[in-house]
Amino acid sequence: MSHDCITGDPAGLENTFGPMKNPDGHARITGPCGDTMEFWLKVEGDHITKVTFTTDGCDHSSACGYTAATLARGRHIDEAARIGQKEILDALVNLSEESTHCALLASNTLKAALVDFNVQKKSKAKASCGSCSKADCTAKATKPGESSKDFEERQALKRRLCQIRHKILVLSGKGGVGKSTVAVNLAVSLSLEGKRVGLLDIDIHGPSVPKMLHLENAKMKVENEAMIPIEIGGLKVMSIGLLLGSTDDAVIWRGPMKMGVIKQFLADVEWGELDYLVVDSPPGTGDEPLSICQLIGNADGALIVTTPQDVATADVRRSISFCRALDMPVLGVVENMSGFVCPKCAEVTDIFNSGGGETMAREMGVKFLGRIPLDASIGKACDEGTPFVHQYALSQTAKAFEKIIRPILALSDKDSPGMDDHKEEIN
Ligand code: ADP
Repeated sequence: MSHDCITGDPAGLENTFGPMKNPDGHARITGPCGDTMEFWLKVEGDHITKVTFTTDGCDHSSACGYTAATLARGRHIDEAARIGQKEILDALVNLSEESTHCALLASNTLKAALVDFNVQKKSKAKASCGSCSKADCTAKATKPGESSKDFEERQALKRRLCQIRHKILVLSGKGGVGKSTVAVNLAVSLSLEGKRVGLLDIDIHGPSVPKMLHLENAKMKVENEAMIPIEIGGLKVMSIGLLLGSTDDAVIWRGPMKMGVIKQFLADVEWGELDYLVVDSPPGTGDEPLSICQLIGNADGALIVTTPQDVATADVRRSISFCRALDMPVLGVVENMSGFVCPKCAEVTDIFNSGGGETMAREMGVKFLGRIPLDASIGKACDEGTPFVHQYALSQTAKAFEKIIRPILALSDKDSPGMDDHKEEIN
């Protein structure tokens, strides 16, 4: 091969000629003359760090490929895309007139490799989360029997949830035990601790969060086909109640419709980055909490709310078994309405048998997180739409909430040395 037509260092040809492993961009073009040229690129940031090429053509073809590769190396990708036939010819001497098409072939192949780089970059961005740079957070492949639509939905959900560090489900064996009260106050307490918190109320039959936070008339915003949570004092809130005209609507939906709404609701809320998402899920152990647990996937665990009576704790046993069947860790049991706080003297009297939740937790081998008394201020705060722990921060009942959130708060110190102790405490 003669290099008399090449300006620059012909010895460099050795480092420039030949295929490249794992390139960021690659193209192969056969020109009208029948010569085939290939280019491979490595890009870091926006700059080309390495270029190689091959050609099956004549020396002139090699000279043009080498010149194009040398000119492109180190350049910004936009600048490299402007390397044309003329710039290559200007860098060469003694190139015969009839070989100028080799410069055009080199320029076009280089450009095609840059196009390939851009296409690959876009598809990588698409495969990773829409709003963060993690590429490993997407659902990897279709599961056996999963349709491509289900797979796409699963991926969309995963993309939404991948920016949330800790997901806590609040469950109860039956309605009316204070599950939403605990969920709201847990979320507010975490937010008061300076954490970025989202509260998702997906109790399809009785979404009470809008009332508890005075959001009944809040207008939900939709941006880029996603629902934007409502922010109150740093807490992001989304309730299925804001979506349903009336909870009666949910009653007439058949199972698959409910599941569809739950699924869509989980996938379509744009939370952004959160430290915690607290999910107020429907009560019981039926299809609805089941699909929420399955869809949320890798949650940190469930917090189970009960009242102290035996009949309620029997339901909780079912909830614990339900979590175990789903491999959902149980963070602990909260016994709500445990004793009555006299509004006059603040003395606590047991109305129901207290301690049932604690006994049951021990028997079932789960952590007992604490008791919350029956306190008229809780009902009042709920009715007024002000979070209890905020309004009555100094009360004994608020202190009871504080104790309950301690192990949940410890989840965010996962990497700190103290976390293992808390883990033990939780399990
Ligand atoms: P669930 O979500 O389990 O259906 P809620 O949290 O909606 O239950 O609570 C039902 C009612 O009980 C609400 O009116 C709430 O204000 C009230 N409540 C819950 N916990 C307490 C408590 N510890 N003391 C007084 N009232 C409470």
